[in-house]
Amino acid sequence: MFTIKGKSGDWEVVIGLETHIEVLSNSKIFSGASADYNPTVSPNTQVSMVDVAMPGMLPVLNEYCVDQAIKFGLGINAEISRVSRFARKQYFYPDLPQGYQISQPAEEPPVVGRGWVEIIGDDGNPKKILIERAHLEQDAGKLKHDVHPTKSFADYNRTGVALLEIVTFLDVKNPENNSYISSPDEAEKYLRQIREIARALGVSHANMEEGSMRADVNVSVRPVGAKYFNERCEIKNMVSFKFIKNAIEYEAKRQIEILENGGTVERCTMRYNQGDGTTSVMRSKEDALDYRYFPDPDLLPLVISDEQIERIRKTMPELPAATRARYIEKFGLAEYDAARLTETVDISHWFDAAVGTKTERAKGVANWMISELFAHPENYDITNEKSGIVDGMRIITPSDLAELVDMVASNEINGKQAKDIFIKMLDGEDGAPRAIADKFGMKQITDTGAIEKIIDEVIAKNGLQVEQYKSGKVGLFGFFVGNVMKASAGKANPAVVNEILKKKLG
Ligand code: ADP
Ligand code: MG
Repeated sequence: MFTIKGKSGDWEVVIGLETHIEVLSNSKIFSGASADYNPTVSPNTQVSMVDVAMPGMLPVLNEYCVDQAIKFGLGINAEISRVSRFARKQYFYPDLPQGYQISQPAEEPPVVGRGWVEIIGDDGNPKKILIERAHLEQDAGKLKHDVHPTKSFADYNRTGVALLEIVTFLDVKNPENNSYISSPDEAEKYLRQIREIARALGVSHANMEEGSMRADVNVSVRPVGAKYFNERCEIKNMVSFKFIKNAIEYEAKRQIEILENGGTVERCTMRYNQGDGTTSVMRSKEDALDYRYFPDPDLLPLVISDEQIERIRKTMPELPAATRARYIEKFGLAEYDAARLTETVDISHWFDAAVGTKTERAKGVANWMISELFAHPENYDITNEKSGIVDGMRIITPSDLAELVDMVASNEINGKQAKDIFIKMLDGEDGAPRAIADKFGMKQITDTGAIEKIIDEVIAKNGLQVEQYKSGKVGLFGFFVGNVMKASAGKANPAVVNEILKKKLG
């Protein structure tokens, strides 16, 4: 359990995240303007009359964005509301020409209701993090204050792009329910889980560096074992895992100090200062904004049918967490290997393509991918579309790797030869592994007669070592194996060599 030492004792940290992900869709949530996120696009070239609130323009809900929200909702095991509404959240700021953001109010059911994701908690065990809701809303534009000494500029390309805001749940009525984020590391793991699900489903790039994922971080502290929650503060608009973790720790310590000095934590909105890693108050409870939510009269209630949900459920791919479990249970892979092979959906598809229907191949393929292939990213195409020689590079395909693994498993070649074939492929040798083996005469010698002959020669040549071995210097065994392998030009089957050598040396 993550705790922070104070003067009066140990404190635990309670964290709630409100995560925004930008929804992937061709067009914006209420207009036909392109929603393609591309920083090289010129400002204000992807803006419709609706986005800049020209009089008389009406929003039209983009059904694909709703499908995306449902897909994500199913991905986090959530209830999908059959009816939800869009409301106007009033605030006046130049990044939002409407003067309000269309969102779904906190007091009403959002499109995605209660759900959960699983992370590995700080104690090493799986931990459910409950999610209260996920709702659809509009993104705002971008203000640029640094291009002109006296003027500010507004870019409305992003105004009206769909966002999904995912809010974690804190069971305030039941403070012993620990299905919430309780450490900086768990916050990062939760966000990575959200990102993984969003990417696997094609709902969002969920990339913090690109701004397609950002989080508001709510933090409170309580003495270890306390049966209540204290007041929290919210740190706005965080865009890096590192900053989020630093901010949580700094903010928790700030609150502990207040409480230990007999003060009370006031609800407030804070900003994180990247320069010195501190948090500071943006606005206190007294000047909290009143958003004056009211149902948007231009939009009908969002009604979702069972058929729509079922249609989407049928298209749901296996999510990475389930893929990992399958690799561990069905293929016997180690947890680390399963994690490496599910880092992206493309990687697990490549792996699955190589394994095919041969379960027994899985461990070999996993080893080759993780220890060899990943070290040569230019030599394979993770989307598995290219093969052969591309730009002078030999592209190693799933079936190449499968063939190599099978050849070792069936004793056609030994491990050393497999490695040589792999290196030849890296060096641009065209053709599948078996063809390369044939071309270079890399067949493993398993014929015991042939191996015995080589062993006899090696023993005859090394009388001294044989005597030393027999008088107890058993470490010399490797010396004999090495010499036999060398004498066979690396072609002997090492298992057979071992067996015969043991017999001969006694
Ligand atoms: P708001 O009304 O300010 O939007 P919410 O009740 O929606 O607040 O909560 C926002 C986030 O803050 C949620 O993720 C919630 O779990 C979290 N939260 C609520 N109370 C606390 C608390 N005492 N400590 C830490 N996080 C909290
Ligand atoms: Mg809220």
